[in-house]
Amino acid sequence: MVDDAFEFKEESAAQPAGWSPAWQVLIVDDEPDVHASTIMALRGQRIDDRPLAFLQAYSAAEALQLLRQHPDVAVVLLDVVMESEHAGLELVGQIRHELGNRAIRIILRTGQPGFAPELQTIQHYDINDYKSKAYTRSVDLFTSLATAVRSYHQIRQLEANRNGLELIVKATAELSQPRGLKLLAQGIIRQLCALLGIHHEGLLAAAVAWPGPGARILAAAGRYADWVGQDLQSLPDPHIRQTFEQVFVSNASLIGDVTCLYFPSTHGHAMAAYVRVAHPIDEVLRHLLEVFCGNMAIAFDNAALYEKVSEIAFQDSLTGLPSRHGFLSLIDERPAQADTIALLDFDGFSDVNNALDQAFGDSVLCALAQQLRSNFSQAVVVARVGGDVFGLLGPADEVSVQGIARLSAQPLSVGSASLRISLSSGLVQLEADTPTVANHLFRDASLALKQAKMFNRGKTVTFQPALANAARDRMHMLHRLREALTAERLFVVYQPFIDLVSERVVGAEALLRWRTETGEFVPPDRFIPIAEQSGLMVPIGDWVMKCALRFASRLARQGHQGFRMAINVSNVQFREPDFVDKLLQAIQAHELPAQAVEVELTESVAVDDVTMITEKLSALRAHGVAVAIDDFGTGYSSLNIIRQLPVNRLKIDRAFVSGSAVQGGDFGIAEMVINLSNHLKLETIAEGIETPEQHRKLLALGCKDGQGFLFSRPLPEPEFEAFMQARLGAPRS
Ligand code: C2E
Ligand code: MG
Ligand code: MG
Repeated sequence: MVDDAFEFKEESAAQPAGWSPAWQVLIVDDEPDVHASTIMALRGQRIDDRPLAFLQAYSAAEALQLLRQHPDVAVVLLDVVMESEHAGLELVGQIRHELGNRAIRIILRTGQPGFAPELQTIQHYDINDYKSKAYTRSVDLFTSLATAVRSYHQIRQLEANRNGLELIVKATAELSQPRGLKLLAQGIIRQLCALLGIHHEGLLAAAVAWPGPGARILAAAGRYADWVGQDLQSLPDPHIRQTFEQVFVSNASLIGDVTCLYFPSTHGHAMAAYVRVAHPIDEVLRHLLEVFCGNMAIAFDNAALYEKVSEIAFQDSLTGLPSRHGFLSLIDERPAQADTIALLDFDGFSDVNNALDQAFGDSVLCALAQQLRSNFSQAVVVARVGGDVFGLLGPADEVSVQGIARLSAQPLSVGSASLRISLSSGLVQLEADTPTVANHLFRDASLALKQAKMFNRGKTVTFQPALANAARDRMHMLHRLREALTAERLFVVYQPFIDLVSERVVGAEALLRWRTETGEFVPPDRFIPIAEQSGLMVPIGDWVMKCALRFASRLARQGHQGFRMAINVSNVQFREPDFVDKLLQAIQAHELPAQAVEVELTESVAVDDVTMITEKLSALRAHGVAVAIDDFGTGYSSLNIIRQLPVNRLKIDRAFVSGSAVQGGDFGIAEMVINLSNHLKLETIAEGIETPEQHRKLLALGCKDGQGFLFSRPLPEPEFEAFMQARLGAPRS
């Protein structure tokens, strides 16, 4: 290794990356003399005002290693014959294929006159020049080198251009999605750093109207990270502050080691991004930055517009509270702490709205919004997430069952009026580390709210994951049941009542059926409780009532006199204030005598509110409608209550006739019920008679009527009519 060449190398290697970095030239030759003479010939030369720096290798292997470390070498002056005859050519192959370096220019040099690589080889390896070392004059060498450097530079620029444009296209696509300014600002810094090839660090400030107050840091990365949200005026670094101000005042970007890009906007606001760039920004990059600024300015305008639109969407215009969108995004941004989300539904709001005018409804909502706001501290988010549904998000000790109960207990002042309100609510409790997916949490809270509305009106239900599935299934079934009612997939079948002595048909029980769209039957024991809990049982019950009465009136017209139609009435239906009136009107509308109708109530009705029930039963009885207590013996009604109630009949549950409660033919309970009936002067009917043996025993015990598969299954209307026809007056067997 030649000493001064060595020094030269040291010098070039030590050269800092500045505004005009040197062109890197790699000399590869196994002869030290060649290195010395080459460097001598080129010493002090500049190409396009940039100096030359030399790297030196004495074998192909060493060269390859150097190239791996210095991907920015512009030109290789390459000896052909070194450690092997083709070492040079092989190195060319490695550069192009192994290193994938297509930009570097290669000038082959040979010491052997007459040796020239095949044309094919030159083309194949993309060798750019070929020179004989012996005849290399310094001017020739420089000319070839300058040509090679320039074409290297062009290739690199094209590459940079292509890569940069690709980056910008990608960034534009990514950042043009509708999103908030903040996200856009973060994205711009990230993409700008990528485009400049620098570490992810920078600031982005937006000014609403410049000059004027209000320019603030929208996004910051790296060492500036905690400057986000700061006013431009209060930035701790005066230089950065001045740079931003200069850019906002001049409406133009600053490009250099401190780069501050200006993004013009058509809506009077402006945005600027500040980064520090340690390397020179050439023409290509400068041009790319312009394109970038233009594209991002459009994205900025869109985002500003979006923000405006969002602002509208994020706020409820009636109450000024955050809307459902706003609420969701606030959930998303919630700090990691033990919070509670609550959804509150105003029970019976639609009645208020319908009964009075909508303006009154609006003022009720505003009053409730105010009440909510004043009941909770500022740490609690209060939102209006639906018509009459409000959302709360806040610390668990404030947003709690007790907190909500306190609120419901207060009367609501609307103008001069004072309303009592009932709120059903659903709660979701969050731990500090509960993953926040606002949509999911909102859905869970909605589920809890729905449960409250259906099963615990006026109360609070706290979401529990274990219950979610069951609740979801029930909700699903309820939804399908509602559809079934409108799509007429519900129908009524009739099971005959038989006089156990004469075996005549004396009546029938109307039983509801649901056949789903796929043709399967859902047993009433499964869907009726769900309908009852949801309030859907009332319209369904009305509908069953009408079907049964219509059928009864047809049978009456056919001459079946003295026939009684029994209708199952569930508790919720019976408790409706207008139940008695509705039934009596329907009986009248179908031109039936009230005696033709029997209401079956379960024992549990009786324990509810004896006074109310007695009144209603008396009213029914006064008109001649019969009342039976269904499933007698399975409930908890005290004998005392049964004694007080004005009922006609006890219906022995099938469990005591053919069910599991009958073991070894022991009819003990049935016997007790029959005795009780006799004592109370009530009639009896036994359900679930399946065998002649059961029929016989019940008959012997003095049971009057019966129903069961022994006589007939529940039948659709035509079959029932045929059954009646066949049995009319004819005792069985
Ligand atoms: P329920 O009122 O006690 O009705 C008698 C049930 O016993 C019916 O079941 C009937 O099909 C069944 N059954 C009749 N004979 C026999 C028999 O010999 N063996 C056996 N194993 N079962 C027999 P279904 O139709 O499944 O109805 C079940 C319950 O659903 C009814 O019990 C009633 O509580 C309720 N339900 C049915 N329709 C209505 C309705 O329209 N409204 C109301 N509120 N409840 C209804
Ligand atoms: Mg019944
Ligand atoms: Mg029953």
